[in-house]
Amino acid sequence: MNAKTKRTPVSVVTGAAGFLGSHLVDLLLARGHRVIGIDNFITGTVDNIAHLAGNTRFRFIQQDVTEFLFLNEPVDYVWHFASPASPADYLEFPIQTLKVGSLGTHKALGLAKHKRARFLLASTSEVYGDPLVHPQTEDYWGNVNPVGPRGCYDEAKRFAEALTMAYHREHRLQTRIVRIFNTYGPRMRLNDGRVVPAFISQALRGKPLTVFGDGSQTRSFCYVSDLIEGVYRLMLSNYPLPVNIGNPTELTVLEFARQIIRLTGSRSRIAFKPLPQDDPRQRRPDISRARKLLKWEPKVPLEVGLKKTIEYFRTRV
Ligand code: UDP
Repeated sequence: MNAKTKRTPVSVVTGAAGFLGSHLVDLLLARGHRVIGIDNFITGTVDNIAHLAGNTRFRFIQQDVTEFLFLNEPVDYVWHFASPASPADYLEFPIQTLKVGSLGTHKALGLAKHKRARFLLASTSEVYGDPLVHPQTEDYWGNVNPVGPRGCYDEAKRFAEALTMAYHREHRLQTRIVRIFNTYGPRMRLNDGRVVPAFISQALRGKPLTVFGDGSQTRSFCYVSDLIEGVYRLMLSNYPLPVNIGNPTELTVLEFARQIIRLTGSRSRIAFKPLPQDDPRQRRPDISRARKLLKWEPKVPLEVGLKKTIEYFRTRV
């Protein structure tokens, strides 16, 4: 893209103060980009980007991405990461979740089109809903309840994927769609309700670990550095259809709780709580496409990633 001018590449990251957004900003700065971060702090926090204060290649704009994005400079890449992403958050902010996935994606695509930039949508394994195909391949269309409590997130992201493909087909925009599976690491919000911060904070406080249902539902957890590397490679590829990025090592929520108790050295016990409605029974990415196209696969074993995450949370509980 900058072959002639050799200008420093410029990236716009929406959701830059969030868990994934802030790690993406760090990687882009490390790889020589100038970065413009946008966030309205609805679920993100300034703490995640505080270390960037004074970095002349980083600029922050506090704005809701559903409002018009005006930037008076060239942009090469738009990374659309803004959205509440934990079930507790999107239950609390269902309308904002629908708006950022629809209107926010429209604004971010409009910015990319205006700047002739390449666009990447952070989509989700939630587009598969409570999947009837296991592990999930990208060509599975999903099993989503549009009117259930998770519908606001799942349908917003499905709409966002459809809108991204429409911009690709009609405007010939260079677009990428990553379907992100459960990811964990430092900078997750302690109280975001997701299983990783919930279990680690409960274990560190000596409180019971709240396993929903009988804990036999499965998830597959990817460490954040692996995820961000996959996302970066996808943007640089020339592949417009969705690509799963996640770690295919699958375990039950109950096994996960026991592992957290072991790794924290906690004396917490396990308390079983009701299973939330529409909680997916099984989730594991089929990452054959990412392996082949991006030469990517996760490198960080669960135990190594969890130890780093536990260290981060230790100083914060
Ligand atoms: N979960 C749990 N206890 C908690 C939080 C979550 O047992 O305190 C379960 C939840 O029911 C789900 C899994 O852990 O089966 C992962 O939940 P999370 O909220 O992290 O995200 P999801 O993968 O459902 O989007």
